[in-house]
Amino acid sequence: MGIEEKLPSGVLLTTVEKLAGYARKSSVWPATFGLACCAIELMMAGGPRHDLARFGMERASATPRQADLMVVAGRVSQKMAPVLRQIYDQMSEPKWVISMGVCASSGGMFNNYAIVQGVDHIVPVDIYLPGCPPRPEMLLDAIVKLHDKIQNMKLGANRQREITELEQARLRRLPLAPELRS
Ligand code: SF4
Repeated sequence: MGIEEKLPSGVLLTTVEKLAGYARKSSVWPATFGLACCAIELMMAGGPRHDLARFGMERASATPRQADLMVVAGRVSQKMAPVLRQIYDQMSEPKWVISMGVCASSGGMFNNYAIVQGVDHIVPVDIYLPGCPPRPEMLLDAIVKLHDKIQNMKLGANRQREITELEQARLRRLPLAPELRS
C-alpha cells in the first residue's frame, strides 16, 4: 500500500517534532564497535538474512563523529571503559545507546574486578537487551523499540519539560529497601 492510498485527499498535516522524529529514526547510523562474543550476533544482524538495511541502518560508521547509535556488544573491561566513553563523547548529538547482552547490561557471569558491572556506569543507556548472546532477531526488536522512542522524542521546550517531569517522577519513587521508606 502506497502513501497515496493512505492519503486520499493528498494532504498531510503533521508537526515539526513528528517530522524530525521520522527523519531521525529512518537514518540512524551505528558506530562500528564490538567488544566480545555479542558482536558476532551484531554482525549477523547486518547480513542478508536479517538485513539492517531495511531500517536505513546498513551504513556503519568507522568514525564516531558520523555515528549516532552505539551498540555495546559484549562485556566492558575496566581498561576499555575510558575508550568506550571517549567514542561516545565523539559521537554526534542526538545519540543513543543499546546495551546488548547480559554482560554489557550488568557484568553478567563476569562478577569480578576486571569487568564493569553495567555499561550504564560509563554512558547513559536507552535500551537494555537481555540474553547471552541475544539473537539478531532480538537486536532487531530492540532497534524497532528504539525507533519508536526516537519517533516520539520531544524537541526544544517540550523536551526540557519532559526531562523535568521524568526527574520529578523518579524522585517521587519509593526506595526498594523497606527500611529506607519513611
Ligand atoms: S552476554 Fe554472552 S555472548 Fe554476550 S559478551 Fe557476554 S558472554 Fe559473550
